[in-house]
Amino acid sequence: MKLGTMLSDVTHSFFRRNITQKYPFERFETPERLRGHLHWDSEKCTGCGMCGTDCPAAAIKMHVLDKKAKRFVMEYHIDRCTFCAQCVHSCNQDCLSMQNDVWELAALNRDQMVVYFGDPNDVIIVQEGLPEPGPECEPAPE
Ligand code: SF4
Ligand code: SF4
Repeated sequence: MKLGTMLSDVTHSFFRRNITQKYPFERFETPERLRGHLHWDSEKCTGCGMCGTDCPAAAIKMHVLDKKAKRFVMEYHIDRCTFCAQCVHSCNQDCLSMQNDVWELAALNRDQMVVYFGDPNDVIIVQEGLPEPGPECEPAPE
């Protein structure tokens, strides 16, 4: 590159308005269709397990504690998720969506990358690996 061209480029860049964003102090509005953190509507869920079965990254495990009482715990591994939205399409009850405003998902350790959705008492049962109560227990789909 000729010296004249280089100086011209440097001068031009020096006076040009910044196009970079001062993140995290400034943020662009997130696109409506951005695929962020998974959201689960437990009210609509039937515990069918299709979300976990169809997930290509094994990022979802649905624990069914009592199907009649709708006691389900969804285990979601953010660090495995590829944000492909296959689970959203596979759920025929329209329980799953990907939040466009929850996308800052970094964590300092891997434990924080596993999220449990469900009743807090049921989540403890699943986390501690206690026998899942009730005659309606079904093994979680692998
Ligand atoms: S978005 Fe894709 S990778 Fe993530 S949990 Fe759903 S199916 Fe699995
Ligand atoms: S596919 Fe939908 S209804 Fe079935 S277990 Fe997953 S979230 Fe629940």
